[in-house]
Amino acid sequence: MKKPVFVTVAALMLAPCLFAQKAVQPKPSPDEAKLIRAVSADSMRGDVSFLASDLLEGRDTPSRGLEIAAEYLASQFRALGMKPAGTEGYFQIAEYAVVEPVTSGFTLTMESGAEKYDVKAEKVMVTAMKAAEGAALEVVQIDLAGELPARTAIEGKAVLLKSAGRMSREAMRKREQVRGMGPAVVISFTPFLSRRPQLRQAGAVEAAAAPSVAIQDSELQKQLEGASSLKATFKIPSPVMEPAKLKNVVAVIEGTDAAMKGQYIILSGHYDHTGVNPRAEGDRIMNGANDDASGTSVVLEIARAFVKTGVKPNRSIVFALWFGEEKGLFGSTYYAANPAFPLKDTVAMVNFEHMGRTDDNEGSTKGRMSLTGIDYTEIGQFMADAGKVVGVDVYKHEKNSDPYFSRSDNQPFADAGVPAHAALGCFIFPDYHRPGDEWQKIDYDNMAQLTRVAAVATWRMANRAKPPAWNTANPRTSQYLKASQELYGTK
Ligand SMILES: [Zn+2]
Repeated sequence: MKKPVFVTVAALMLAPCLFAQKAVQPKPSPDEAKLIRAVSADSMRGDVSFLASDLLEGRDTPSRGLEIAAEYLASQFRALGMKPAGTEGYFQIAEYAVVEPVTSGFTLTMESGAEKYDVKAEKVMVTAMKAAEGAALEVVQIDLAGELPARTAIEGKAVLLKSAGRMSREAMRKREQVRGMGPAVVISFTPFLSRRPQLRQAGAVEAAAAPSVAIQDSELQKQLEGASSLKATFKIPSPVMEPAKLKNVVAVIEGTDAAMKGQYIILSGHYDHTGVNPRAEGDRIMNGANDDASGTSVVLEIARAFVKTGVKPNRSIVFALWFGEEKGLFGSTYYAANPAFPLKDTVAMVNFEHMGRTDDNEGSTKGRMSLTGIDYTEIGQFMADAGKVVGVDVYKHEKNSDPYFSRSDNQPFADAGVPAHAALGCFIFPDYHRPGDEWQKIDYDNMAQLTRVAAVATWRMANRAKPPAWNTANPRTSQYLKASQELYGTK
């Protein structure tokens, strides 16, 4: 709502020339105006204060706090009478396990002629859902930068993966492919080793995959990569693990246009955070109000705006809230591999992050919103145009927009070819990933403004005859464009 304006007669006489210098703010359509009016700052203050309350203990994946958050989200969709799009009502259930790092019972010896190399348990990270062993197995070396060999070349053998430094996403994808090709074990080197419990998918695919051993030892890496006729002998003990049923929370508003309702726009946010930090002094709860109870609430509020106004989009809109973003984009990656609606019919995705705070480390972001990879697709323009209607400046952050593209839940969708971004109210803020990220520090009026922009942009994307396209002129989109052509079957 605008404040009432009082003007004097003199001011009125001056007004035309003053106004003439100002750009005219475009007006919303009647349906857009309804959506704009329906978005409520108080409603979102309610969501965020609950999700980020201490009782939810930072919503770690998995945890009881995360479970309670999932129930809350489902209850909000239920209150709106929305159509569930999960595997059990609003819940898309994903089978995972928390696997403890291997400590005892692990052995790995590599031999080349008379040379023998023993690998210590504290230098490895093992990924295995069951015990495994092998003796004096031939080692096949594979360079992940090149083509993978045929299955018959590695079946039953040990594989040693060559990769320089930290594995790229593409290299990790290839490693998983190799694990599925029947080797006895897959050995790789890593510059970074985590000895904390690991969250792993626990479905049939994972159970059938070969065990993987990542070694942190650059000396050994040099020695082995030069060695010929390598043999491997190993023993991997039965993993100690706790099963975890994780939940994406998903609902849909079906489109009304016969030809377009079979196409989907996803709006999403991650409802997990990083839990309790045992090393923090005093307040140890990582509340994750801005990251990302705020984005979660934006998704809920846009759903409320559509349902309560009865404004009906032509395309369908999917409202999805992810688990496990902080552990490595687990929930969104799971959905992209097991979509509620086919990805080839999913035409756009906007993921909301850090929507509440305006005290960015670089200065106030009040009245401003950014998108990661903002000029990679037409979605950036949709947001910018909607921003003009609402009075929000949608801008490109010259330093952060592109590098942050791969840092949130839009990435698995972009990898699959779907035009997908993260929308942000700020990038890095003072309490980022600290216990001080509390609900009281959020600017709810500003968050409501950004939510109005997103609601209007979503409405327009849902109704325009052509869905948003990748920007072919931007060289950074080439890999996504290629994936998109495969996904949608266009040239
Ligand atoms: Zn986040």
